[in-house]
Amino acid sequence: MNNSLVCDPILRFGTEEIRREFLVPLASGRKLGCFGLTEPGAGSDAGAQKTTAVRDGDSYVLNGTKNFITNAPHADTIVVFTMTDKAKGHKGITGFVVDMKSGGISLGKPEKKMGIKASPTASVIFEDARVPAKNRLGEEGDGFKVALATLDGGRIGIAAQALGIARASMEDAMAYAKDRKQFGQPICDFQAIQWMLADMATEIEAARLLTWRAAWMKDRKMRHSRESSMAKLYASEAAMRAAVKGIQIHGGYGYIREYPAERHFRDAKITEIYEGTSEIQRLVISADLLR
Ligand SMILES: Cc1cc2nc3c(=O)[nH]c(=O)nc-3n(C[C@H](O)[C@H](O)[C@H](O)COP(=O)(O)OP(=O)(O)OC[C@H]3O[C@@H](n4cnc5c(N)ncnc54)[C@H](O)[C@@H]3O)c2cc1C
Repeated sequence: MNNSLVCDPILRFGTEEIRREFLVPLASGRKLGCFGLTEPGAGSDAGAQKTTAVRDGDSYVLNGTKNFITNAPHADTIVVFTMTDKAKGHKGITGFVVDMKSGGISLGKPEKKMGIKASPTASVIFEDARVPAKNRLGEEGDGFKVALATLDGGRIGIAAQALGIARASMEDAMAYAKDRKQFGQPICDFQAIQWMLADMATEIEAARLLTWRAAWMKDRKMRHSRESSMAKLYASEAAMRAAVKGIQIHGGYGYIREYPAERHFRDAKITEIYEGTSEIQRLVISADLLR
């Protein structure tokens, strides 16, 4: 989150002054950032922004609510998207970097989630929050472009997260299958278990190669929207399949909290949802194919 959705857009779209003020502490780990695009009425349809930013002298005044914001309770900085010209639709969206400690910003209660519980999620409310105009990312109206370019990179991060969860599901299941005995032999001797492990391993390798390809293209500054979406779509769905198989291999022990198998299942699910649901990834991929 901090690196891919906060540092990356500041580096790419911020001025030198903004980079020095915000990027240096964020990149060095002294401060933590969050990313505010989603709103109660703007989820998959991120262009439907209702948070407003109104120019007033050398600053903007922000009003609105961002919800489901990862890390918000601990964040020092937010990259936030607003509507500066409603008549222009998504071409009226503008992004800003904002110090969370500046006035007019408050938080909702941390959400009670199914998984990823080590990362707190809350809404961020702007009430006449004054932001210096120099904190704008790009020009007025560039915000949608900034958000989509940022998500192209972020989705590689989610693919990598999903890959890690899938790998943990497989490694835990493999260790358990070697240890657990039924009918007088380790359950890994049963072909049904071996085939589940083989499928998990094959899908993990495929997800890893898709993720590396997208990352390689980003590093070389090649257009990578389709490849990032493919990596995120495949890795997240592979993680869910691996987590389900991981529980199955653990039998009843996979369903109780003593073993991490059920946690992998709960953690994997979010990778099919945030930074664009699987349905939205399929839209991005097919739109690029048919372009
Ligand atoms: C734990 C968590 C952390 C998050 N962190 C952040 C964050 O840090 N910053 C941030 O900005 N957001 C964050 N989000 C928000 C997340 O990105 C959105 O929840 C997600 O993009 C989906 O939006 P939505 O929840 O409004 O669902 P909706 O957009 O309402 O979607 C509901 C369903 O409709 C489907 N759907 C919608 N449109 C279409 C379409 N055109 N075609 C086909 N199907 C469609 C969706 O795929 C989904 O199945 C987070 C969410 C969660 C749960």
